[in-house]
Amino acid sequence: MPEDERTPAPLPLRRIEEFINTRRADGDDLATPAQLAHWLQTRGLLPANTVVTAGQRDRAETVREGLRALIADNNEPPVASPRPDGLDPAARTSLADLARQLPLALDLTAHPPRLTPNGREPVDNALATLLGVVAEAVAAGTWSRLKACREPSCRWAFYDYSRNRRRTWCSMDLCGNRAKARASHHRKTARSV
Ligand SMILES: [Zn+2]
Repeated sequence: MPEDERTPAPLPLRRIEEFINTRRADGDDLATPAQLAHWLQTRGLLPANTVVTAGQRDRAETVREGLRALIADNNEPPVASPRPDGLDPAARTSLADLARQLPLALDLTAHPPRLTPNGREPVDNALATLLGVVAEAVAAGTWSRLKACREPSCRWAFYDYSRNRRRTWCSMDLCGNRAKARASHHRKTARSV
C-alpha cells in the first residue's frame, strides 16, 4: 500500500478534508471572515476581492462542523460522543437545515451531469460547491473512507486508505498512542484498587 497515514484524500474529496481540518486543537484557520475569504480564494472557490461577512463565516462554520459530524458516521463504530470533545451533537441537524437553503442544482449541460452551485451569492455558492463534493464522493465510493479521528480532543479528518477500512486515528504516533497510554493507565488503576 503506497499511501501512508498522512496521504490526503483524493480530489475533489480532499477539499472537504482540508476544510474540516482548518480547525485544530491549537487554532482555527477560518476564525475571521478575511481568513475564510483567503481560504476559499486560494482554492478557486471564491472570486478575488469578494468581501465575506461575519454571518457568512458563521455559515461556513456550520458547514465545517456539520461535515465533521457526517464523517464521524463513517467510523466503525461511528464516533458519536458529544462536546466538549469536539463533536457538537446538533452540528449535523444545523447543516441539514442550512443545506436546504444553499443553491445547488444538477447541471445537465455538464458531461457527466454534476451538482453545481447556481446562486447569486458567492460565499453560499462556495459552500454549496463543498456539499456537491459530498454527493460526488458518495457516487465515487470514496466518501465512506473519510473519517474523524477517534481521539476526543482531535477529531481531525483523515482518509482511510487501509484495505480493511478499520483505521481509527488520524495518526498512530500521536492519537493512537495517546489512547493506548490512557487505556493502559486505566487498566493499572483498576488493578490497584
Ligand atoms: Zn487525531
